[in-house]
Amino acid sequence: MAFVNDNYCNLKDSYLFSQIAQKVNAYVAEHPEKKVIRMGIGDVTLPLAPAVIDAMQKAVAEMGVKETFRGYGPEQGYDFLHEAIVKYYAGFGVTLASDEIFISDGAKSDCGNITDIFSNANTILIPDPVYPVYLDTNIMCGRKIVYMDGKPENNFLPMPDDSVKADIIYLCSPNNPTGAVYTKEQLEAWVAYALKNDAVILYDAAYEAFVDDPAIPRSIFVVEDARKCAIELCSLSKTAGFTGTRCGYTVVPHALVRKTESGKELELNKMWLRRQTTKFNGVPYIIQRGAEAVFSEQGQKECREMLAFYKENARIMAEGLRRKGIKFYGGTHSPYIWLQCPQGMSSWEFFDFLLEKLAVVGTPGAGFGAMGEGYFRLSAFGSRENTIEAMERIEKEL
Ligand SMILES: *Cc1c(COP(=O)(O)O)cnc(C)c1O
Repeated sequence: MAFVNDNYCNLKDSYLFSQIAQKVNAYVAEHPEKKVIRMGIGDVTLPLAPAVIDAMQKAVAEMGVKETFRGYGPEQGYDFLHEAIVKYYAGFGVTLASDEIFISDGAKSDCGNITDIFSNANTILIPDPVYPVYLDTNIMCGRKIVYMDGKPENNFLPMPDDSVKADIIYLCSPNNPTGAVYTKEQLEAWVAYALKNDAVILYDAAYEAFVDDPAIPRSIFVVEDARKCAIELCSLSKTAGFTGTRCGYTVVPHALVRKTESGKELELNKMWLRRQTTKFNGVPYIIQRGAEAVFSEQGQKECREMLAFYKENARIMAEGLRRKGIKFYGGTHSPYIWLQCPQGMSSWEFFDFLLEKLAVVGTPGAGFGAMGEGYFRLSAFGSRENTIEAMERIEKEL
């Protein structure tokens, strides 16, 4: 008899995006003449940068020639990409060793896989509202989960509470879904809490490239002591439009050491290397060459132009909401705007209202956790034309 994992019974069905699709499809069928504008997407829409395409095409050609063909690469990624990322981090004042960086097929996979190196006896501290992957991957392991509330009183940036004991802490900044961004002082407080409790912070920096204030951390490792308590997950998905191309990286500092339940001290970097070399066979050479090009001078210039385009959308949205007197968070250093539903509407009431009256689609905040009720996420990943038109509809008809 093969038993299956009981913990899967504790997962909530993820209705959010299917329910949105269902409602939108029904609306489109009833109103074929209406132009529906989708502001709910959490996916990029601009194509890959020319520098990335050039690098990948060159790599494809190499794969077709006996002398330059490559088979299995190092599971943790090629040195050329490690070196490019070391330089990138140096650009915001963080010194990494090349073997502290692990290349992967994206932050979502690493986020799920990293649970392998931690005991299931850990208590997990998760923000609410939250990127659902943190929650579900830990439910699958049967771990105890405690929540920290994001709310207007803390600007959706939960801070450590000494009365709460947690072993693993998830932080995401700039945040999905709220667009909120931690300051360096706030991250210092989290690092102090983690060190005091021998906890580990899993820091999701997927949106770091949207930060354009040098005072705002793009990495938790700008806090020096974070090396002793944090793992950073990052991705080229939002930075460079790699959502379909797939490449990310995880930083596990050598200084990060914790005990097993039986009291043995282990270096987490070595554990993660062991885990990856056992269960993963690396990101395709062609993709890693494309990723390397993201960090080149030309690639950075092109990617910054893409980010500037999305950020200008966010600015247009924020300005419209401000004129309308709608309270919101995010929109700077982030492609997301997290707004308070007007007139006391619930998340889904506001969703229905926007769809039926304005033919605009967004994401109900309640889909990201109980604290998201009454809030709503708009994304800046759409076209300029649609962003402007959606805001005109909101300003005129809301
Ligand atoms: C988009 C996103 C990621 C990136 O995931 P990939 O698997 O690298 O595409 C990670 N974390 C958050 C919060 C995200 O929104």
